[in-house]
Amino acid sequence: MSLNIDWENLGFSYIKTDYRYISKWKDGQWDNGELVKDNNLTISEASTALHYGQQCFEGLKAYRTKDGSIQLFRPDENAKRINRSARRVLMPDVPEEKFIDACKQVVKANEHFVPPYGSGATLYLRPFLIGVGDNIGVKPAPEFLFCVFCLPVGPYFKGGLTPVNFIISEYDRAAPYGTGEAKVGGNYAASLYPHELAVKQGFADCIYLDPATHTKIEEVGAANFFGITKDNKFITPQSPSILPSITKYSLMHIASEYLGMEVEERDVLVDHLDEFAEAGACGTAAVITPIGGIHHKGKLHVFHSETEVGPVTKKLYDTLYGIQFGDVKGPEGWIVKVK
Ligand SMILES: *Cc1c(COP(=O)(O)O)cnc(C)c1O
Repeated sequence: MSLNIDWENLGFSYIKTDYRYISKWKDGQWDNGELVKDNNLTISEASTALHYGQQCFEGLKAYRTKDGSIQLFRPDENAKRINRSARRVLMPDVPEEKFIDACKQVVKANEHFVPPYGSGATLYLRPFLIGVGDNIGVKPAPEFLFCVFCLPVGPYFKGGLTPVNFIISEYDRAAPYGTGEAKVGGNYAASLYPHELAVKQGFADCIYLDPATHTKIEEVGAANFFGITKDNKFITPQSPSILPSITKYSLMHIASEYLGMEVEERDVLVDHLDEFAEAGACGTAAVITPIGGIHHKGKLHVFHSETEVGPVTKKLYDTLYGIQFGDVKGPEGWIVKVK
């Protein structure tokens, strides 16, 4: 089957693919799950996902390698994280094997949507878990749906490895001991308005500071922050309200094991940005997006350059990208073959 898709120029927007996976939890157990063609869900109007935000989600990608095979990057980590998120909002675990099997089934069923090697595009998978069924009180739902759909995507921020500028937000996406660490919808509802403000002012997105003191960098929109110090250390913030990015933990490993750098997870003070020679945002969707500059208190702090990626960021990107697309050998267990 031939598709009319311009693989090289894909952005990050919804495309309906052929099949999605759906499984239902009822009376204490999951059914076997199945692939369906319909991309609409029919759920009770009283579903807790709709009213009280009882839901969580994941994002991961399938990559086409040079020899035409297809692989996933660390899907076991997404499975673990969806269950940490689920527990935080009182939803049942999705067994790790069920999660990975569902992802594989969806990729195989939509194989012709996996972009060709070399296009830079990938197949993005969106697993999600929602509370459904008849319920009106603020309490957990009686039933749950676990679904996975997919779509081919290009770069999240336009331009790929071209630096973009961000602005510090006065708003918070999560509370100090709230749900920032969980990939739950409420955090993203809270981020829509600050994101729009940032875009209207000409920035790619906003950067959130720690919600308790507003002095430390936490998240770059829906991606994690990292900085490379002038003495070549990989630094990334640590806080209970940051979403633990799998890409970030992978880059920490790559920085230390592949590039021989020192790695530190610690506070990043927004008033000490001049300690960094380079900075970037990282996540599955963003991969690595170099940060050109950060606007704060009326000034733009530029790191390496507003137009060119820095040398260390480039090396990190090339290694991560190489592992994900099968050109560089990854650590044991990072790559899971679909076919
Ligand atoms: C998903 C997400 C990330 C990136 O996590 P990855 O596992 O690297 O994809 C970072 N920050 C937020 C707020 C996120 O939702």
